[in-house]
Amino acid sequence: MTLFTRDLTVCVLSSGSAGNATYIGDGRAGVLVDCGLATKQILARMDAAGLGDAPIDGVLLTHEHKDHVGGAAVLGRALARRGARVPFFCTAGTRDGLDPRCHPDGVEVIEAGQAFRVKHLIIEPMPVPHDVRDPVAYRVIVGDTPVAVVTDLGKPTALVARALRDCRAVVLEFNHDEDMLLDGPYPYPLKQRIRGNHGHLSNRQAAQLLVDGLGPRLDHLVLAHLSEENNTPHRAMSTARTVLQDAGVLGRVQVQVASQHAHLAPITVSSRMW
Ligand SMILES: [Zn+2]
Ligand SMILES: [Zn+2]
Repeated sequence: MTLFTRDLTVCVLSSGSAGNATYIGDGRAGVLVDCGLATKQILARMDAAGLGDAPIDGVLLTHEHKDHVGGAAVLGRALARRGARVPFFCTAGTRDGLDPRCHPDGVEVIEAGQAFRVKHLIIEPMPVPHDVRDPVAYRVIVGDTPVAVVTDLGKPTALVARALRDCRAVVLEFNHDEDMLLDGPYPYPLKQRIRGNHGHLSNRQAAQLLVDGLGPRLDHLVLAHLSEENNTPHRAMSTARTVLQDAGVLGRVQVQVASQHAHLAPITVSSRMW
């Protein structure tokens, strides 16, 4: 029996190789997924998105690359000054890989595949293939409603596809266009790293993951972590729209492209609670 419904908000504050942060919350509890830009920017963008008073009860770190954790130490201190010591959740591998300058107080070690709670939010970390020790992506669940943030993975996996299938909103990496990367200015070793199985998802790979993970409940898709050198919003968008069109759901699923330079309008999905 449904007792009540509650709105769950997902707001991509910044996405790309210069800084990542996404806010997810329902007004009573909330988390940031990653904090790879300056704390001032994170808080200013939350404010500008109408989330200035939204609770931050935890910060979920995906991995130790600077574009995901660069603001962690300062953010931890800023949140503590607001009156709450907020835990930073990450795997042991990520904790060990953190640059000491980014290392926040109050790290809590989690394990891929082991769900945990931040207040009433259920958090499910899942392993992804990326060139660090122990990276994860996250599902955040309120009531009957999962949403997911999946970036920084070198190839689609069956586990991630399965995790996307009942999500209402998905933030998914569309990092590069394969031809643009190969023809572009990056040095060969960097091209190989990005293309590798522990690099980043190309538009084509992201489309494959979307085909495998597309479920009947998806209402919102955000294309994320686009390379400014090796992709364009237009190319990523037309790849995603083709998948959605072929699946007959282009009219239902709202698609946005996340940016490095500004936050997106918050996405709201309603969740049934028991
Ligand atoms: Zn990244
Ligand atoms: Zn990374």
